[in-house]
Order: sequence, then structure tokens, then C-alpha cells
Amino acid sequence: MGKILIVEDEVAISDLIKIGLSAQGYQCECANDGEMAANLMEQKSYDLILLDVMLPKIDGYELLEYIRQTRQTPVIFITAKSQTKDKIKGLKQGADDYITKPFEIGELVARVEAVLRRFHKASDSIEIGNIIINVVARSVKNGNKKIELTPKEFDLLLLLVQNKNIALYRNVIFEKVWGEELEFETRTLDLHIQRLRKKLGWKDKIKTVYRIGYMLEV
Ligand code: CA
Repeated sequence: MGKILIVEDEVAISDLIKIGLSAQGYQCECANDGEMAANLMEQKSYDLILLDVMLPKIDGYELLEYIRQTRQTPVIFITAKSQTKDKIKGLKQGADDYITKPFEIGELVARVEAVLRRFHKASDSIEIGNIIINVVARSVKNGNKKIELTPKEFDLLLLLVQNKNIALYRNVIFEKVWGEELEFETRTLDLHIQRLRKKLGWKDKIKTVYRIGYMLEV
């Protein structure tokens, strides 16, 4: 469900967080100072890091800078009530959210869930060969080069990709991509397939299946 690193030097708070998150099914590990946190990060990978600002040895800002240079792991800053400036600084440096001490454990759990959800959504991309499809941004790239697709071309591509190696019937494709908008019109579908093949360089990958329709073969 998720592995979380808790970086907090106040053991009472650290324990409270660990108990609360463990009860929700998260796997938690604790680091009591910045150095220990850095060492743990070197050895293991985490899905999320809870990071106190004021820490012995290496402070939260320094650690956040290090995290941002080396990995994409989402970070929630833990700040004291008096440190309003810290929140802003933390967010500017790339923290995904912050929570102010003292907090209810329920609020922390909700923030952890929200950040993880957002993070997974953002990384929602599909790769086939050199082609990278970002489902959320609805963008397609060939390596670093952006490929411009019309909305219908994108929908058609997504349908093929999500059903790869399955022969799709023409009428099924038409219904899913065009819905009720148009009367079934053979040429529209064929033209879109032709353009996708050309734009993606998928002449061989998108197969015509005799008497059925089309299939993406990968
Ligand atoms: Ca502290």
C-alpha cells in the first residue's frame, strides 16, 4: 500500500505518526535525524517522506534539496506553528504539502492519501517502444519530440493501447471513440487509423484484421 519514511526527532510525535499510519496499512520507518534519514534513503526506496523542518545534523531544507536532486518521491513537510515562513520556503523548494504541529492524526492520514493519489495520477503514462503516452495530460511523445494528435486520434490510440494484442471490431472501436456523435461511417475510422500509423510510425504495429477491424500488435 505504501512505504513511508518518517523523519522527526521528537520521538513522541514520530511514534504517534507511525501508529496512525500503520493502522491504515502503511509500512513506516523512522529516522531521528537528517543523517539517518539520508542513509535510509540510500539503502531503500520509499513512496512518501514525512519531513520535519528542524532536525539535528542535517535539517529539513537541506534534506529536501538532496531529495529533489536525486528522486521524485513526494514529500510532506512537518512544521511548527510559529514557522509560517518555513511552509512557504518548503513548498517553493518542492515539498508536495505541509502540515503544522500539533495536528490530528486523521488530518495527516488524509494529506498522505491525497499526495499519494496526486503523485500516482501524474505519473500515469504508458510507454510502447519510443512512444510515451501521458493519459492525464493527453499528450504523446516520440522520445523527446511531441506528436500532435486530434482528440479523436488520441482516444483511438488509447483504446488500441489499452487493448493491445486484441483484435477490436470496427463497430466497437467506432462506438467507443465516436459514441453517438456520428452514424457509423467506415471511412472516418480508416482515415484516423491511417493518420495514427503515420504520425507514430506504427505502420506495422497497427494491423488490419481481416473482416474484424484493427489490432495494436506489440
Ligand atoms: Ca524537530
